[in-house]
Amino acid sequence: MLVERMLPFTSTIFAEMSALALRTGAINLGQGFPDTDGPASLLADAAANITAGVNQYPPGVGVPALRSAVAEHQKRFHGLDVDPDHVLVTSGATEAIAAAVLALCGPGDEVVTFQPYYDSYGATVALSGATLRAVPLRPVPGAGFTFDPDELRAAFSARTRLVLVNTPHNPTGTVLGRGELTLIGELAAEFDAVVVTDEVYEHMVYAGAEHIAMAALPGLADRTLTISSAGKTFSVTGWKVGWVHGPPRLVNAVRAVKQFLTYVSGAPFQPALATALSLPDTFYRTLADDLARKRDLLVDGLRRAGFAVYPPRGTYFVVADVAPLGVDDGAAFCWRLPELIGVAAVPVSVFCVDPDLGRTLVRFAFCKRDEVLAAAVERLAGLRALG
Ligand SMILES: *Cc1c(COP(=O)(O)O)cnc(C)c1O
Repeated sequence: MLVERMLPFTSTIFAEMSALALRTGAINLGQGFPDTDGPASLLADAAANITAGVNQYPPGVGVPALRSAVAEHQKRFHGLDVDPDHVLVTSGATEAIAAAVLALCGPGDEVVTFQPYYDSYGATVALSGATLRAVPLRPVPGAGFTFDPDELRAAFSARTRLVLVNTPHNPTGTVLGRGELTLIGELAAEFDAVVVTDEVYEHMVYAGAEHIAMAALPGLADRTLTISSAGKTFSVTGWKVGWVHGPPRLVNAVRAVKQFLTYVSGAPFQPALATALSLPDTFYRTLADDLARKRDLLVDGLRRAGFAVYPPRGTYFVVADVAPLGVDDGAAFCWRLPELIGVAAVPVSVFCVDPDLGRTLVRFAFCKRDEVLAAAVERLAGLRALG
C-alpha cells in the first residue's frame, strides 16, 4: 500500500528499541527523552492556561508572546536581531524541518547533510522527492567527529537546494566550530543553497565548546532558516512546540506548507513557554552543568565496561565503539544488549545512508536521573564478565 519512496521508513529504531526495553525491563538509554520534568513554573503555567480556557486554535503563526520571546532569546544567547514577525511556531522542530524541506525541495533537487543524521531528515527528504547527499562525520581520536572539507565540497552541485545542518549534533555530540560552519556557509553561498540549521541542543554544550548559530556568521542570515524547540531545553519532549525564523521569503514558504501539515498546535503550552524562555541564566547554566555531570558518569562507566568512548561536547548523547569488546556489529549488539545485561541503546548505523560508517558505534542517552545512570553503569560493567 505504502508509496514506494516511503518504504524504507516503515518503522523507527526508537519505537523498536523502546518496546524491547519495556518488554525486557531494561534501562532505556536508547530514546533521548529525560526522565524528570522541566521547571515547575512552566508546568504550572501550562496547567493554569488549560484551566483558564486557553484551549482553542492559536494564531497560525504562533501566539505573539512566544514569537517575541523567541526573538529575545535569539538576541540574548546568539546576538541575532530577529523580528518577531519573522518567527513561525511549529509542532516541534520536526515539523519545522519537514515544512522547510517540503517547501523548498522537490524531485530533482538535492539536500546536503551529514551522516549519521537525525532520523527524520532521511524520511522527510524522501517524502519531498528530493535526493539526500550525506557527508560522513568520522571520529578523530581525541577530537570528536568531523567531516572532510573535500567530501563536503563534492556533495554540492547545481542541484543543491538546501543544506541541513545540526549542531550540537545528534548522535555524535559534535559541536561544529566556526571554521567548519564558515566552510558550510561559503559552499551554500557559492551554490546558492538555503541553510537550514537544527539547533535543538543549543543549550546543551559543555566546557571547551561553544554553540555558534549559523545565522550569526557574516552574510548567512539572509539564506538561513534557524530551527529550535522547547522539547529538549525544558524537558517537555511530549509538548512538541518548536519554532523557525529567518528572512521573510523563506519563513513565508515554510508557513505555506506548515499550515497544511498541522495548521497549529499547543495553544496552552505556547504562552507558558514564552515565560520560560526568559528564565534567568542560572536555569540554563544548571541545565548544562547537570548534564555535564551525567555525561561524565556515563562516559566513565562505558570506558570501565570496555567501550572506546567519544566524549560529546554537546547534546545528551554519547557514542561508544563496541569494537574493543570484540564485537563487529553494533546493530546486532543493540538488539542483544537488553536481554544480556538490561540496558537499551541504539546503533549509529541506522542514522547513516552508508551503514558501514557507524557499523561498530552505538548511542547512549544520558538525560536520565543519576541513580538510573549509576544502575546502567553497574549493569554495563557486567559485559566484561560475559566477554
Ligand atoms: C529531538 C530532535 C528533534 C525533534 O525535536 P521536536 O521538537 O521534538 O520535534 C529535531 N532534531 C534533532 C537533532 C533532535 O534530536
